[in-house]
Order: sequence, then C-alpha cells, then structure tokens
Amino acid sequence: DSSIKEIKKAKKSRKLIQIPALSQSIPDNVQYLLIGGGTASFAAFRAIKSADPTARVLVISAEGYLPHMRPPLSKELWYGDDSEMAKSLNFHQWNGTTRSLFYEPDPFYTPIEELASAKNGGISLARGWKVESINVSEKKVKLNDGKEISYDKCLIATGSVPKTLKLYNDASQDVKDKFSVFRSIADFEDLMEELNHVKSIAIIGGGFLGSELAASLANKGKKNGVKIYQIFKENGNMGKVLPKYLSQWTTEKVRDEGVEVVTNTEVENCSLDNNGEKVNLVLNNGKNISVDHVIMAVGAKPNTELAADAGLEVDPNLDGYLVNAELQARTNLYVAGDCACFYDNQFGRRRVEHHDHAVISGRLAGENMAGAAKQYKHQPMFWSDIGPSVGYEAIGIVDSSLNTVGVFAKGNPKDTSLSTNKTDENTTINDTDTPAELESKNIFENNYNKGVVFYLKNDVVVGIVLWNLFNRMSIARQVLKSDRCYKDLNEVAKLFNIHGD
Ligand code: FAD
Ligand code: NAD
Ligand code: NAD
Repeated sequence: DSSIKEIKKAKKSRKLIQIPALSQSIPDNVQYLLIGGGTASFAAFRAIKSADPTARVLVISAEGYLPHMRPPLSKELWYGDDSEMAKSLNFHQWNGTTRSLFYEPDPFYTPIEELASAKNGGISLARGWKVESINVSEKKVKLNDGKEISYDKCLIATGSVPKTLKLYNDASQDVKDKFSVFRSIADFEDLMEELNHVKSIAIIGGGFLGSELAASLANKGKKNGVKIYQIFKENGNMGKVLPKYLSQWTTEKVRDEGVEVVTNTEVENCSLDNNGEKVNLVLNNGKNISVDHVIMAVGAKPNTELAADAGLEVDPNLDGYLVNAELQARTNLYVAGDCACFYDNQFGRRRVEHHDHAVISGRLAGENMAGAAKQYKHQPMFWSDIGPSVGYEAIGIVDSSLNTVGVFAKGNPKDTSLSTNKTDENTTINDTDTPAELESKNIFENNYNKGVVFYLKNDVVVGIVLWNLFNRMSIARQVLKSDRCYKDLNEVAKLFNIHGD
C-alpha cells in the first residue's frame, strides 16, 4: 500500500525538533541542571522554584517536546470524536474538564539566552538535546555535540525506555518496519496515523501498556474496521498484578471492547508474507496470526546509560540508580522517577514506574536540591483505566503472587448502574477459593464491578487495589501505614464504603 510506504518515509525523515539549534546558546554553567524533560523533572523544577524563587534551572530533554505527562497517551487521547482535539494533545479528564498533555505552555519557559541574566532567574529548556556523560567529581555534564555545562546541583530524571523482543532485535529491517514500541508523543502520532491505513494490529504484552492500549485501539478501531489482537503469556490481562479471578474478569471486559485476547501464549517467530505487506506471528499454541502492524508492550527498562561512565551504582536486582533516602546518588547529584532505585521505609528497596511516584520523588529531589534534607516517606499510588468499565487505583505492593482477599459490592448482575446500587451486601473472595466455592458464593460475572482487594504478606496488608472505587486513597494509605494483621478484612472493607459513590 503506497500510503503506508509514505508514512514509513515520513517517520524515517522526521527531524527531531532541537531548540536551541546550536549549543552555544546554552549556558556554560548553571545553578540547577535537570537531565530529562519528563514528569519527575517537571515536579523537581516546580519544587525548586517554590523553595528558591530566583533559582536558575536548566532542563535538558532528549525529547523534542515541552515537558508533558504520559498517562493520556494510552487512554484519554483515543476516546471521543474530536480528532482535532487529540491532534492538539488536549484531552477530557475523568471529571469532564479539558486539559493539555503539556504541563506548561511555551511562554512559561525563560528563553535560554536570558537564563543567566534574568533578574528573577527562571526555568529554561534545551529540547532535542541529550546529556552523554556526567563527570561527578568536576560537577559537569557533556552534551551530544561535546558541549560541557557545569552545575551546582544536578538531577538525573531519565525515565525508562521500552524493551523490545529478541525476535524483533534479530529480524531484518523489512520485518522491523512492521513493529513499533509506544511511549512518546511521536509514537502516539504515528499510531494514530497508522490506524487510518491498517486493518489489523497485534499488541504483544498483557501489562499496563498492552492492556490500556488494546482497549483504546479497539474502541477507536471499531469505526474503521481495524481488528486488534492482544497476545501475552499470563492467564489474563494484568495477570501479574490482579488476582486470577479479577484478571480473567478484566480479560472478558477487554474482549467486550472488541479485542481478540490470546492468553497463555507467546510469540515464537515472525516473518513477512509473500508480498511483504503483512507480518505473520507464529505462536507457541500452534496457531499463526497475520497482521499489518505489531506493537511491543513488553515492559520498560530504566534509562541508566549515564551510570557506567559516571561511576554510579545500579541496583543489580531492581535496576535503576541506587539512591539514599534523600534521593541522592552522590553529593549534589540526585535521581528521581522511573530510573531511581530508592529505599522505602516500609517495604525496603523499590523502583516504581508510575506517574505519582515521578511527581513525589521529583518534588522531593527538587526540595532537597534547594536545601531541604527530607526523607522519601510518602507511599506512591498509581491508577490505570482499561476501557470504559475498568478503572482502578492502587497503593503498596500489588503482586498477584501474594495472597489476596477481595471484597466486592454484591449487586444485581443485570444492574449496570453502579452508583444506584445501594445494597449493603458484600461478597468476599479469597484467591484460594476453588471454582465450587466461588459458585457457592454466587459469583455472577458482574459481581466484580466495584470493590477493594487486600494483598497480604504474613497476613499483614501490604497492598490495596481500589477497583472502580475512587476518592478513597487516603483511607487505603492509612490502612497500609498501620502495618497490621487484621482479623477480619470485611470490617476493614467497611471503611471504604464500597456502596457509596
Ligand atoms: P519519563 O517520563 O520517561 O521522562 C524521562 C525523560 O528523560 C524523557 O523526556 C527522555 O527523553 C529524557 N532523557 C533520557 N535520557 C536523557 C539524556 N541522557 N539526556 C537528556 N534527556 C534524557 N503511570 C501511572 O501511574 N498511571 C498511568 O495511567 C500511566 N500511564 C502511562 C501511559 C503510557 C503510554 C506510558 C508510557 C507510561 C504511563 N505511566 C502511567 C507511567 C508514567 O508515565 C511514568 O512512570 C513516568 O512518565 C515516569 O516519569 P519520569 O520523569 O521518571 O520519566
Ligand atoms: P509491564 O511490565 O506492565 O508489562 C509487560 C508485559 O510484557 C507483561 O505481560 C509480560 O508478560 C510481557 N513480556 C515481558 N517480556 C516478554 C517477552 N520477552 N515476550 C513476551 N512478552 C513479554 O510493562 P508495559 O505494559 O510494557 O508498560 C511499559 C511501561 O509503561 C511500564 O513502566 C509501565 O509501568 C508504564 N505504564 C504504566 C501505566 C499505568 O501505570 N497505568 C500505563 C501504561 C504504561
Ligand atoms: P490528576 O491527573 O489530577 O492527578 C494524578 C497525579 O498527577 C497525582 O499524583 C497528582 O499529584 C499529579 N498531578 C496533578 N496535577 C498535576 C500537574 N499539573 N502536573 C503534574 N502532576 C500533577 O488525576 P487524579 O484526580 O489524581 O486522578 C487520577 C486518575 O484516577 C484519573 O486519571 C482517573 O482515571 C482516575 N479517577 C477517576 C475517577 C472517577 O470517578 N471515574 C475519580 C477520580 C480519579
């Protein structure tokens, strides 16, 4: 198809927006240097400015865009009929208000040439520029064109990068052209355009990204007859996070959105068909799937490429730069967001790849860079939306290999209007329940519409999922903080007022 070839050509020739065009305009030394233009960096510059109003902050971002949030890229931006709105990267939030993906508009940033002289300091952005190395003892970084910048305080907020499959890495360029990953605005724009030209897409991966995107693409694809497949090795969507019954229930919801979900399956091989238009995926269940395009959503890897040369320690198990409780890797050098491996008072060493952690750790690093010496103590939360009927928030350790107890609002399975379901009865599910026990609890397929799931380690609550239940995160945080072994989790569940709005 000639139009697909056109897209490929455009993609290959897309020039990275680089502002300023020449690195001479970038100052030679700055007070605060932030590496990365994502959420952690944004939260850090906000915190620095509020603690130190005349601060001079330079943000260096390898992306050619203004700092922005990623969550709507796999969700909100695919819904609604207003394609102009999506193109302008605006979206409707859950509460109906319109918001831009960009945290601040262009005029917010101080022109880079003025940063050194501006009376009240400012925040400047060098976008499309990459830091190639850090010299920690001399407190300076080197950019991709060799320019050096020295700093007083530096933040590494380089986030993470999508993993790719071995079968992709080993494939020829023709096959590679049929594959993509999904993380950035450019990836979103390419996929939005691609949807106008393809008839089938396979998503490999059943985690956050694969599950959100499958539901979103199926919704969008309905209008132009694009078939969406989702292939992954777990039992059901979000199988590494949700208890088995809930993961399987979610999978049915994803299927209801029109996605052909292929569970318990891995892709073993791939090749182009005879005329080179479709890619044939060979599955380990003996079947083949032939599609126009494949998206790999097989996890992310923290971006620690600056570590080796700078002599910074990377956690051998969790990956990510090792930092202390104040988020320092070394004196005057801080790390926040996806790429930080930090110490959580309650749960030990962790690395978290979610928005709220990027906000909290970025803010804390910013405060500490500006002189505070605060410890990371706030327990981060995350949320996910998979199509219109699954939305959840979570906190703590939510790992499906733990024992769980779920308490769900018991309702008339035919009653889809949750907010009017005022019955006080709950159903409690232990993940050790056998199918017969589940049946005796009279579980209709609609019974998992709304509830709370507790994750237990040695009978202590270490994680909580709030299932289609919002505005209760502060209660979950309290329950988690108490670090207790509760005798009756049904009683704890009452705190969450599951039947309320
Ligand atoms: P990033 O946002 O990855 O930013 C890192 C930045 O550093 C990038 O701009 C990168 O180009 C730049 N960079 C890297 N190396 C260099 C270098 N050497 N020099 C200069 N710049 C560099 N989380 C949730 O909690 N809820 C959600 O619903 C949710 N949805 C998501 C949807 C999508 C599609 C994706 C991809 C993620 C989603 N997340 C969600 C996760 C969340 O977006 C991330 O955890 C968050 O973006 C991490 O922020 P960060 O600042 O650490 O890294
Ligand atoms: P993930 O870790 O959630 O899921 C990875 C999936 O890929 C799993 O199903 C896993 O089994 C599969 N997989 C891993 N290796 C594989 C292999 N070799 N072959 C086949 N399958 C393989 O990661 P993701 O869904 O790709 O998300 C990417 C990043 O974006 C993560 O950092 C994630 O936290 C973030 N994200 C977060 C949200 C959210 O918080 N709501 C939403 C979207 C993306
Ligand atoms: P939000 O986007 O306002 O906040 C999400 C996170 O981003 C928070 O950690 C917050 O600290 C941070 N944040 C807020 N404003 C920011 C900014 N300008 N820059 C950087 N970070 C910022 O959303 P929320 O109200 O906390 O809700 C999160 C998700 O929960 C929503 O996306 C939605 O899916 C879901 N939700 C749904 C309902 C519902 O009734 N359906 C209700 C509440 C929340």
